[in-house]
Parts: sequence; structure tokens; C-alpha cells
Amino acid sequence: MRALSLLKSYISNGCAVLYVWNMKGPWAVWQTGYRWSSSVRKLQSNRTLLKHLACKINATGPISVSEYMREALTNPVSGYYTKNDMLGPDGDFITSPEISQIFGELLGVWCVSEWMAAGKPSVLHLVELGPGRGSLAGDVLRVFRQLKSVLGEAEVSLHLVEVSPKLSQVQAERLLRDQQQEYDTKEELVYRSGTTHTGISVYWYRRIEDVPKGFSVFLAHEFFDALPIHKFQFLVKRTDKGWREVLVDVDPERTDKLRFVLSHSPTLASAIFVQIDEKRQHVEVCPEGGVIIQNLANRITEDGGAALIADYGHDGIKTDTFRGFKGHQLHDVLEAPGMADLTADVDFRYLRKMAGGQVTCLGPITQQSFLKNMGIDARMQVLLRSCHDKDTRAQLIHSYDFLTNPKKMGHRFQFFSVLGRGRLAQSKGDQKAGTPPPVAGFTELGLQ
Ligand code: SAH
Repeated sequence: MRALSLLKSYISNGCAVLYVWNMKGPWAVWQTGYRWSSSVRKLQSNRTLLKHLACKINATGPISVSEYMREALTNPVSGYYTKNDMLGPDGDFITSPEISQIFGELLGVWCVSEWMAAGKPSVLHLVELGPGRGSLAGDVLRVFRQLKSVLGEAEVSLHLVEVSPKLSQVQAERLLRDQQQEYDTKEELVYRSGTTHTGISVYWYRRIEDVPKGFSVFLAHEFFDALPIHKFQFLVKRTDKGWREVLVDVDPERTDKLRFVLSHSPTLASAIFVQIDEKRQHVEVCPEGGVIIQNLANRITEDGGAALIADYGHDGIKTDTFRGFKGHQLHDVLEAPGMADLTADVDFRYLRKMAGGQVTCLGPITQQSFLKNMGIDARMQVLLRSCHDKDTRAQLIHSYDFLTNPKKMGHRFQFFSVLGRGRLAQSKGDQKAGTPPPVAGFTELGLQ
């Protein structure tokens, strides 16, 4: 299979160009943690959003954690993602695609290998959910360009699902050549579009539902952890027993402060979202994540394609993971809404369940295993061989360690994939009898 050997040789031989611009984490930061903040950014209070939430609660009662999280992160005026570029050197945290180009390159190879496994369809939509600064998409498109001989005449386009006007502007600056178009958002599903330097069309949408159908490879890195969760607590009292919803209320002692309370009786959400056989005493459920994964599963079933999801997560075992980040430290989730990042670990068991039986899910496996299976060691050797600057070499080694070390991002981050049912079925021809076609990253690519 010539194309597969081309993919392997891309990792272990080809394209040893270093894109140093993509490695912008200051060294001190790499030592302190993967979520960090520049001291340049001062803590400011966001009184408008706090006031708005307090008024609402006073008028109609406590709100769900899900509503609180949605407002704090994506309120159209003062949401954290709406108005911030939190990923830059002056931002609040650093992500794998921002740490090293290798991350995006290996995900690019994954996309091409899934496209090949589908029989090289004539159309390839690359769809990224929550593209941040556009670094991952940029690295993947560079791999596509370098693997032009494999992709042949396939019609490639890029579709970005992004709620943040601020970040979509940053993405456009990163990915597009000069001209770009903005659309009347009331009329159009696409709110921005343009063309890359190599002529690939790029479109921006607010919702996955608006992305056009067609064979698609979906990428979502640190996207699902930003979606709103409901929180539920199992209550055991002499007179009362059962699931209650954790809600957000105004503190009666201090009207400028919020606090958590438990609903007096079951809520509609607790009745619907807590599984009947749930064994934990506290659970977090992300229905929006469930709806999105169902959408991806339907598209993969109907039009072909694959999805790769990478995030902090667990397989249905963790309980209270809702947290905020501001500065170098954990931040009280109820303080200064709109000014801090809020996140909850992704429950991959829930995503697998919501994806349903029409698709096959792989993982979660650790980032370390995924990247090693994808050939990160071989790719590192190629880049190191081509790099003679002492500082850049040291940076490369640090970034490799940061991505793969179990104590850093190596085990905290998990990879999970959604594939069409036929993907793992026995195929005649290339495969040895009895061996399912390998899925890159989840099995070794076998570079030698
Ligand atoms: N994937 C990037 C950025 C992660 S931060 C990286 O790894 O570097 C989360 C991203 O998801 C941001 O781009 C944010 O604006 C976007 N986002 C958050 N909630 C969203 C939602 N409900 N719909 C679409 N995009 C969302």
C-alpha cells in the first residue's frame, strides 16, 4: 500500500521544517504547569455579568450549574470565551497544539490515514470544534500540503465551529491570506469565510448543526471540557433520599457573592440525566456534549468520516471535577464569572453511550500512548536531526516531555475516537486474514 508507506515516511523522514513560532510557552511556565497565566493580566471583576446573574436568580430562583457555566463562558457580551484570547502568552492556559507543532502534525497524519481507510473519497471536510488560536488547524493543513501526493485531487475544505468572535478573528489572521468575508449573522449559517495561502476554503459556524454534510474528519481538542455541565448530588437523609440538583444561588449574607445550594426536590434535569444504575454519589452530566456527539455519530454514519476527541477526561468514574483557572492557580468557580476559565473533565463513558450503536468508539487512551503510537519518537528524531540551534533543541525536548510525560499532559489527556461501524470490519485485499484494519494512534503505526 504505497500511500500508507508515504504516511509513515512523512513521520520518520520527511519535512523537517521547524515552525518555531508555534512553540511559545515560556520555559518557566512549562515547569509550573499546563494551565498558567501571565502575571501581566490583572484580576478584574466582571460586575456586569455577576449583576445580571444575581438579578436573574433574585427574580426567578437559583439557576443550574449548566446555565451558570454557559453564561460565564459564552455570554455574547461578557462571556470568558466571547471576549478573550486566553491562549496567548498573556492568556490563562496553554494547550498541546500551542506547545509543539508535532502535536498538530501527528493529528494531521491521523486525518489522512482515516481518509485513506475510507477509500479516499473525492471530498474531505476537515471540521474542527473549538479551534482556539487556529494552531492545530494550521498544522494539520500544512501536513495536507506536504502529503499532496497522497491526497491527490481530493477537494479539501476547512470548517471551524467557534462561538467566540474574538477567537474567530485570531483564527482568520492565522489561517487566511488577506481577503476574508464577514456575513450578516442573522441571515447566514456561515459568519465568516476566506481562503488559505494555498487556496483552501475556510468557513466559520457557531454550531455543528450548521456545518454542511459530506465526508468529514472532526477534531475536537479541549472543546468538550468547556461545554456546560449539570451537577447532581445523591442525598441520604432519614426523611429524604434521592438525587438533587446542585444549583447556583445568591448568598443571603453577601448579595455580591454566589453560592451552591441543593434543589429541595428532584429537578427535571436530575430526573432525565442521572442514569438509573448510577453508583456514584455525585455526578456531572454534559447534555450538550451528548447532543454534539450524536450529531457527529449521525454524520459519520450517513456521510462517512471519523472523529478524534482529546481532552482531560475519565471513563465514567470521577465525581466532582468542575473547576476554574485564573492566574497560576485554581480559581473559585463562582467568583468573578466571565473572568476565569471554567472546565469539567469529559465523561467518555457518557459520550460513548450517547454516540449509540450505529458507530464504533475507540478509547479513551492516554495522550502518551496515542502520540507514541502515532510515531512521536520518530518525528522528534527527524526534527532534532534538522535542528542545530541549542536553545531550539532544548525547547523541542521540553515540549516533547510536556506532551508525553505521565506527570504532565501524558496521562491527564485522553484520546477518544468515533468511527463508522464498517471501519473495523474485516476487509479483503490489504489485510491479513483475521486482522482488522489498524486505526492509527489506537494501534501502533509500525514505523520502521
Ligand atoms: N482547541 C484549542 C482551544 C481550546 S479552548 C486548543 O486546544 O488550543 C476552547 C475553544 O472552544 C475556544 O476556541 C472556545 O471559544 C471554543 N468554544 C467554547 N465553547 C464553545 C461552544 N459552545 N461552541 C463552539 N465553540 C466553543
